[in-house]
Amino acid sequence: MYRFIFNNIDNTSQYEELIKEFLQPSDYGEDGDRVLEYDFRGDKEDVKRQIYRDLSAMTGKSPKWGILTGIRPVKLAGEIADRSEDPKRVLMEQYLVHESKADLVCDILQYQREKAGKPASKSLSVYVGIPFCPTRCLYCSFTSNQVEQEAMEPYLEALGREIDYAGTAAKAAGYSVETLYFGGGTPTSLNEEQLDRLLTKVSDAFALGGVREYTVEAGRPDTITEGKLRILTDHGVDRISINPQSMKQKTLDLIGRRHTVDDVYEAFAMAHKAGVEVINADLIAGLPEETEEDFANSLDEIIRLGAGNITLHTLAVKRASRLKEMDENFNYKDEELREQMLAEAHETLRSRGYQPYYLYRQKHTSGNTENIGFTADDRPGLYNIRIMEEAQSNLALGAGGISKIYFPSENRLERVANVSNYEIYIDRIDEMIERKRKGFFEQEAETKEEQTC
Ligand code: SF4
Repeated sequence: MYRFIFNNIDNTSQYEELIKEFLQPSDYGEDGDRVLEYDFRGDKEDVKRQIYRDLSAMTGKSPKWGILTGIRPVKLAGEIADRSEDPKRVLMEQYLVHESKADLVCDILQYQREKAGKPASKSLSVYVGIPFCPTRCLYCSFTSNQVEQEAMEPYLEALGREIDYAGTAAKAAGYSVETLYFGGGTPTSLNEEQLDRLLTKVSDAFALGGVREYTVEAGRPDTITEGKLRILTDHGVDRISINPQSMKQKTLDLIGRRHTVDDVYEAFAMAHKAGVEVINADLIAGLPEETEEDFANSLDEIIRLGAGNITLHTLAVKRASRLKEMDENFNYKDEELREQMLAEAHETLRSRGYQPYYLYRQKHTSGNTENIGFTADDRPGLYNIRIMEEAQSNLALGAGGISKIYFPSENRLERVANVSNYEIYIDRIDEMIERKRKGFFEQEAETKEEQTC
């Protein structure tokens, strides 16, 4: 058992993140007999490199992301490139990233810069959260509630007030909306009339003339109807997500999704017929009891169904999930299997003409891997790119929404959070609006004054 001693370091959390890449929590603690001691002498990366080298030598592991523990390696590579340095060289030499990952990051960065460009200075991405789903998935740690249609009404009313306020304030501040994203939860848990009312509310409140991408998550295929798809396309939605996660029925039953594989086929057919331009499909590597073959079959099927965007996730078992309660150490099992599944999936996707366009690492993932979005036909999910770049303000509405205001002169973000419990959100909607006014729009006005002085 290991014991770590840090001298001159108050906050050890980022070092512990790195240690967890090598060791399970039960492998180290105060009683450990293998003592590793580190002194901070002004450069935290020095300490991390030392930890990495020591633990590599002692465990025989060499995690491919090197000493990087943050979730946005592409953003880091962009910052390195903006300093006119070579991102690949810096990632490998300074951050000890393996060449395969450094190449992947640089490839994605180059693609993003070619296809998405940089966001315009007064542009905005807007997120609207619908915290309802038909059932709760085994691994879910999001704001997802299972309620009847009627019980959604007070939420829609409160959300409508926030939309009215934010849309008016955004127009007054001269923002143009670049991307719109409805997530959750599952926005298509709303019935047709509710969905139409909500989308109308948004288009009435905001100036949407310059929108480049309009996404609505329709993740659970059993919530999709022809009527809902017609409403979405009538409102200008050009991208939806239908997320099978797996195309194996036994797995779907096991993870508590309630829908069938046939529901996925039907949802894709309806979406193509409705003329949705881009369908994204999420798959998860490492679902309980799945083999490499199961994962490869699921991928083949969604390619065959014509998913224009495919996002490969690694199962992240977080504290709030039912799976974490069932199996505390799930994250540490079958790491190699998950890496293998993803490596093969990358090859398949590249060979079928898909290009990786965004990437983020999640904490708590198994196998020290990452989540990657692929696109066919040069239709990358722009909202995803903007969120990961963190170079644009994001206005997040609804329960659990965390808005971010971007200060370009300092290349810095400030967060303004709504409460995540939807019932508390309803009760405290006046306070949420006030938070947005003070934390987002008044801050924005101050920045403008500073810049024009
Ligand atoms: S669909 Fe997403 S938000 Fe809904 S329960 Fe499943 S993981 Fe949670």
